[in-house]
Amino acid sequence: PSSVLVVGAGLAATQVVSALRETGFGGRVVVLGAEGLPPYDRPPLSKHLLDRTTPAWLADEVGTDLLALADEVHLATPARGLQVHDDGATVLTEHGAHRADVVVVATGAHAVRPARWPAARTLHTAQDADALRAALRPGDRLAVVGAGWIGAEVAGVAARAGVDVTVVEAGPAPLTGALGASVGALTAPWYAEHDVRLLTGAPVDRVDDEGVRLADGGRVRADVVLAAVGARPATAWLGTALPREPDGALRVDEGFAVLGAPRHVRAVGDVALRRSARHGWVPGGHWDGALRDPQTLVADLLHPGDAPHADRAPYVFSTQLGRELTLLGAASPADEVVLRGDPRSGEGWTALWFRAGSSTLTAVLTVDRPRDVGAARRLFTAPALAELDRSRAADPALPLR
Ligand code: FAD
Repeated sequence: PSSVLVVGAGLAATQVVSALRETGFGGRVVVLGAEGLPPYDRPPLSKHLLDRTTPAWLADEVGTDLLALADEVHLATPARGLQVHDDGATVLTEHGAHRADVVVVATGAHAVRPARWPAARTLHTAQDADALRAALRPGDRLAVVGAGWIGAEVAGVAARAGVDVTVVEAGPAPLTGALGASVGALTAPWYAEHDVRLLTGAPVDRVDDEGVRLADGGRVRADVVLAAVGARPATAWLGTALPREPDGALRVDEGFAVLGAPRHVRAVGDVALRRSARHGWVPGGHWDGALRDPQTLVADLLHPGDAPHADRAPYVFSTQLGRELTLLGAASPADEVVLRGDPRSGEGWTALWFRAGSSTLTAVLTVDRPRDVGAARRLFTAPALAELDRSRAADPALPLR
């Protein structure tokens, strides 16, 4: 190709541009962004919500200067539509059309805000973080709806700053979606420890000026309500130009080519649902994929068939309620959990997921056990899932690998 158009000016987009230039691509690179801001990192928006006022630009964090590496960067020119041609693609904007040989969709995600919750805030952008920070003062009552990764992180930092925090969760335990109810429940005691009230099994009906109204008629009065109930791929702008999953995701192959479209249409980061030989279909939504997958995309684009595809294990990290968590791999609800260490001991511990009745390891969660993180990474590098002796793995005194 002699030109690449990257849509979205976030982490994945930045990494696509830097991988193109590192690989020696001398053609034209154009980037379109929507927020009017240079690329920035999102994880600090929740973890440092109340102790950092400006987002740390990605240029500082990952050493890439998008603005210098691309030929043209339009930071406030959202894509409104896509036309795919046999030999390229055209992206439509309010300020005109951009045509290129290759288009990379990297428009990330948006936070979910249910229709009956107009008064709720969300936290996805730097602008959201500024607004939430301005709204929260010590002594205020904050209701966080959703005890997922972001809800747990915000609850902890707000409580530490003297905000009166209640977390309202529809599921039986925090992090049920990511960890399942039994492991998620092991994180529930952390809330009280950090002066956060946690209500589980409490679906929200609506959010209004007085706070949260629960489905069972109960009320949680609050000055500020944060909806932290997930994110969806930001692909509505594509209309019917590409096949999209019900949640908006774009299914891609191992080289990040969009399935059902010509191979010069690619997608990466939060928008992509990628095929992994080891883990099955892996959704976006996490920083590590947006950081590293662009290198695989660019290698496949410029040298198709040359390099083996890196098949990285899904990897999530979170700092919440005084703990460091990492989750590697992908468990399914039927998997069985083995604990390594005692969650009630106050020491770090690890949860291991195995396929039912087998020694096949599918996922690893570490809580304040940095040494297990490196071992878990190595366990997920072979082409197939690792086999592990369950009783040995359960002994925290023995190395995981
Ligand atoms: P983004 O970084 O979101 O970039 C997409 C960009 O595209 C955005 O700037 C957007 O404005 C732009 N865009 C959207 N629509 C258009 C359009 N039509 N035209 C042009 N541009 C458009 N992950 C972890 O693994 N660990 C964490 O601890 C963690 N913490 C997080 C905390 C918060 C508060 C949030 C919101 C996310 C967190 N994540 C975390 C997720 C992680 O930040 C994302 O997975 C990552 O940013 C994805 O990168 P991306 O480039 O795909 O999307």
